[in-house]
Amino acid sequence: MAKKKASPAAEPAVAAEGYTVLARRYRPQQFADLVGQEPVVQALANAIETNRVAHAYLFTGARGVGKTSAARILAKALNCVQGPTTKPCDECEICRSIAVGEDVDVLEIDGASNRGIDEIREIRQNVQYRPSRSRYKIYIVDEVRMLTPAAFNALLKTLEEPPAHVKFIFATTEVQKIPVTILSRCQRFDFAGISTARIVQRLREVVAGENMEADNDALELVARRAGGSMRDAQSLLDQLLSFGGDRLTSEQIHHMLGTAHDDRILALASAVVERDAKRALELLGQAAGEGLQLGEFLDQMLDYWRDLMVIKCAGAEAQDLSVPERQRPTLASQAEGLSLDTILAGLDVLSTTKARLRGSSHPRVLLEMALVRLGRLDNLESLSNLANLLKAGVSGKERGTVAGQGGNATPAVRPQVSAASRPREVATPPEGSKKNSLTTPETLGSPGNSQITPDSIGQLWREVLGQVGPMLGSELSKAEIPAIFGPNALVIRFPVGYNSKREYCQQPANIARVEAALRSITGQNYSFRIEVLGDASLSKVRLPEDADSTQSRYRRQRTEAMNEPLVKRAIEVLEAQLVDVDEGFGGAPMAAPDKEEEPDSEEA
Ligand SMILES: [Zn+2]
Repeated sequence: MAKKKASPAAEPAVAAEGYTVLARRYRPQQFADLVGQEPVVQALANAIETNRVAHAYLFTGARGVGKTSAARILAKALNCVQGPTTKPCDECEICRSIAVGEDVDVLEIDGASNRGIDEIREIRQNVQYRPSRSRYKIYIVDEVRMLTPAAFNALLKTLEEPPAHVKFIFATTEVQKIPVTILSRCQRFDFAGISTARIVQRLREVVAGENMEADNDALELVARRAGGSMRDAQSLLDQLLSFGGDRLTSEQIHHMLGTAHDDRILALASAVVERDAKRALELLGQAAGEGLQLGEFLDQMLDYWRDLMVIKCAGAEAQDLSVPERQRPTLASQAEGLSLDTILAGLDVLSTTKARLRGSSHPRVLLEMALVRLGRLDNLESLSNLANLLKAGVSGKERGTVAGQGGNATPAVRPQVSAASRPREVATPPEGSKKNSLTTPETLGSPGNSQITPDSIGQLWREVLGQVGPMLGSELSKAEIPAIFGPNALVIRFPVGYNSKREYCQQPANIARVEAALRSITGQNYSFRIEVLGDASLSKVRLPEDADSTQSRYRRQRTEAMNEPLVKRAIEVLEAQLVDVDEGFGGAPMAAPDKEEEPDSEEA
């Protein structure tokens, strides 16, 4: 996952004293130099070799991944005196002038500054004329998304009937802003973000080329901060090298950027995981005293918690983590000691803090609160283990009548409360075996008829929450556990007051993500929907006077629900209250255990 870290001096430029920035000096000149874009390179080379070069290309991808470089290389490949060739000579006059962007027949147009209809009209008139010395007249339009609608229309006319001697290469970071009419007339190539390892490799070559030295940690740090952009990485490296010193170290970088050293983040995370709030606060105070940027620091903590989540889900072979290689074992052992729910809740705490930090005049307090809250998240584990606990601890003999609203736990069962709140001592099956038990036919029914059952749904839902990403997972976790609704359908409800969370989760893309997660976990197609709690009065015990039959049915359902072991135990252990019984819930009627949750209104 790419981190978006803005780094200064994004666009290569020549400084006043004739110094050419690294990103420009080390700009790739051959297809083979385009790091991390092998599929694109292969396709372009094939097109050239088989003489099937399209008349318009669209290069899309994040900034600094090589789109413009690829456009220039393609232009050289087509126009080189020895071409068309997949290996332009880089020596002829044409290759050399294209490389610096000054060729008469290869026109580079910046869509951001030439976005009007007049500029495009000019192109339209000029395409009629043959190239002055090369095979093709090539237009490279950078940031084509910035063109005005009128300009796009004018461009379209040209694209519909292009003269044979004209090629267009468009580059854009945001393909969704390009009109479909234009898209359909281009061959599109998607440039991938470049992996940290590939960037490090390239940076090492650059450092060697500059006769400098750099620690591996330092280069890794630069590459990680660039978030997949080779140009950003080289720009940052450029700045860092210009600060002098014979050898670039990660300490220097952290010092210059005001970021915390990886070891410091690790130490702090360890303090939090070990629930040592005192030490966590000390470490934060120490860092703040040394001029650490608190916003950057929070970002680093977020990255760290994201790593915990990834490694928890993907295991030791997880890719693309933000921590350096050498810290992975520690990260892995921390992840092992935490439940996924706790990690997700931690991400929630950190991202909420990030939102609050903006414009706050007391950032340090907010960060301290976040650290302390992270250290107290253990309580959540008892919730996530509850279902297992219930399965293990409750048998049919406990069946009896629970009378009244049932909010108060009876003293007799109190001792079990303390057992539940020490989740580390509760024997739970390891993560792996839980997964297996969920997907085996015993719990899901025979392969041809693998239904989610009320018994398996709690566990399944936690896995779904783990798969849909931290944001959606955290919002969905505010809702009740889903009810099975029809043969292959799940439905969830949010408690009253959670409208914004519900609306977020209801977005079609998010529904699709949940359905995809259900499919990948169960191997079955499930439809998923979120019910709007239209009639809030039903969720209260007070019912309309004249609705006698409804009321008696509701009473009966309540009594049945109260006799469910899960509900009884939730009431005992969590001092929960039975709020509502839904007809669709079958064997798993709902209680409302989330006492600690804040409704929307309290989140600024
Ligand atoms: Zn050439």
